[in-house]
Amino acid sequence: MKQEKLQPKYMKVTGEGRRLNPSCEIITEIPIIKSVVEEAVARFYRYEDRDRGEEYKKVIFRRGFDIETIDCIKSIFGDVYVENEEGYFIDSTGDEITVRSESERGLFYGAQSIAVMLEGTGNIVPAMTAYEYPTVPERGVKCYIPGMDHISFFKQFIDMMCRYKHNTLLLEIGGAMEYKKYPEINVEWVKFCDDIREYSGKSRIIQEATYSWRKDSMHVENGDGGYISQDVVRELVRYCKERYINVIPEVLCLSHCDYICRAFPEIAERSNDPYPDTYCPSHPKSYRILFDILDEIIDVFDPTVVHIGHDEFYTYGKCPRCKGKDPVDIFADDVNKIYDYLHAKGLKTMLWADKFLNSSYYEPMHDKIMPSGGAEKGPSPAWENENIMCEGMGATYKSIDKVPRDLKMFHWYWSDEEYEKEFLNRNMPTTYGNYNATQHKNYKQRMKAGMLGGLCSNWSTLSEVIMAWNGVIFDTAFNGTVFWDPDYDYDVRDETLQSVASDLYNWKNMYALHGERTGNYIRVKHTTTLDMPYSLMHDGVFLDRNEYLIGFYIVTCDNGREAKIPVHYGESISGINESFFNETTGNLMNDGNIESSVNKLKGVCYQAMPVTKDGKTRYDAILKIPDHVRGFNITDVRFEQTVQNCEVMVESIEIL
Ligand SMILES: [Zn+2]
Repeated sequence: MKQEKLQPKYMKVTGEGRRLNPSCEIITEIPIIKSVVEEAVARFYRYEDRDRGEEYKKVIFRRGFDIETIDCIKSIFGDVYVENEEGYFIDSTGDEITVRSESERGLFYGAQSIAVMLEGTGNIVPAMTAYEYPTVPERGVKCYIPGMDHISFFKQFIDMMCRYKHNTLLLEIGGAMEYKKYPEINVEWVKFCDDIREYSGKSRIIQEATYSWRKDSMHVENGDGGYISQDVVRELVRYCKERYINVIPEVLCLSHCDYICRAFPEIAERSNDPYPDTYCPSHPKSYRILFDILDEIIDVFDPTVVHIGHDEFYTYGKCPRCKGKDPVDIFADDVNKIYDYLHAKGLKTMLWADKFLNSSYYEPMHDKIMPSGGAEKGPSPAWENENIMCEGMGATYKSIDKVPRDLKMFHWYWSDEEYEKEFLNRNMPTTYGNYNATQHKNYKQRMKAGMLGGLCSNWSTLSEVIMAWNGVIFDTAFNGTVFWDPDYDYDVRDETLQSVASDLYNWKNMYALHGERTGNYIRVKHTTTLDMPYSLMHDGVFLDRNEYLIGFYIVTCDNGREAKIPVHYGESISGINESFFNETTGNLMNDGNIESSVNKLKGVCYQAMPVTKDGKTRYDAILKIPDHVRGFNITDVRFEQTVQNCEVMVESIEIL
């Protein structure tokens, strides 16, 4: 199992080590590697500490594993060496630190590991030999384009992905990036988002309770309901690539095409839908527009892979051109047309794989097995309004044998182990989508069967509060941790949950915990009997933080000034009975898949750390003191409860 602090999997410490001072020479030709180490060294460096103990003279980054390195790994750690481009080796047993890897990316990960070692240690790197490698080649996150207000958090989040050694970002484009040839797409996108974002949950009413046909979810949080310029996107892509993160643009095609159909209603498959989401695949204009869009996106991203969406394809055979066509052919022909277009440009094609599966799921509300994915679905009630009967949907799953075998499958129906065999048995490259290892039973065996890895997803605003709430920050850390641990399996999940929680907390609060005490933070240990249901904030359902406000810490200063620090349930505190080790408190969510106890805790971890003892959980949280009282002498901090139907227990308050 991984340690509480993110460390290389194989690490043998042989001595106290030395100090890494800013005067240490960092030898590499790669600027980003140099700056990762330099920034970590500078973070907590204090001039007066420079002569305390011995220091390293050099940190040397070298390409290539030589025979001695491999022998050294084998003699210290046993038979663990694996040929792997991204693996790296660190030796710090003398007055130099040497990092080795076959690739630049591996050296970058070595630099990340050194940066982690410096956290909270007074800039000491122990004398040690270390080695690790990732068990899968595709590790990452899917998210939307950030709005302009969240560009700086986007970069922070990318830095976090690097800390957990991810290498793939799937970025959904939709209407949220400027189109030069078709500015009307952006204009209509903003109007569409303004309409759907009118109030929280409006999207759900439109999608699930209004029409007598199935509709796609609406991604109106993409770009925060607006769009950003190609130049800004280019800069984001550059930032990722500099950090060895492959950026895959997700260009929604066929389904989820509200962003195109609103601007060009003449290509919508269903003419009577005021919110059309599927283009007509028999209309030549559909591809003229789509390929122009693809060209612009390819120009901005310069990708090696393009993801073409294709999930939740419900609307087909409605227009006169398509009437009577087999859904298998409609689906496969569309995929193949786009595949061919990308293939001619030397690009690989990836897509959501649900429509290739003859799948079903258990629906607990009606105690029924329901067809899903690419299975044939007869008429059935609307999801949220049983009085509306929705039309049926023909099967598409047979199209799997009508598309190229090197199509990259983004497989998100992984709660059932059987489905991935459809792809693996055909030797199709397959990566898990919407992936969280916390829910992944039989992990080790399934990964070894040939899966390429997994990406977790944030289906909402790319902001710190939302990504923490939705557990995406946690999943990014957890998935990254287990992808680098060849021994991880589901049976050590609960301990791993706790160790990842601890690492995230220590990292998020690094300055408060390890920096000089400036009186800018309070550390509290608290818990509550309040038990609010958890729900994901996505698909047009917005977080109203006021609903979760349970009180304030009141900070009083000696000059009489006061400040209030709000405490939100689900952010810095959760329930006393929630625990990573107590699955029985969890409820099944409406997708039948998620334990709410684990989910609630995932949302809290980062700002707070849950600590369970004797079946009761308290939350260690670090809260920032508001700017207007910073620098004053604090004489008192107390908690003032504002919701009355619960108890809040504050164990301790400390000023940091
Ligand atoms: Zn049509």
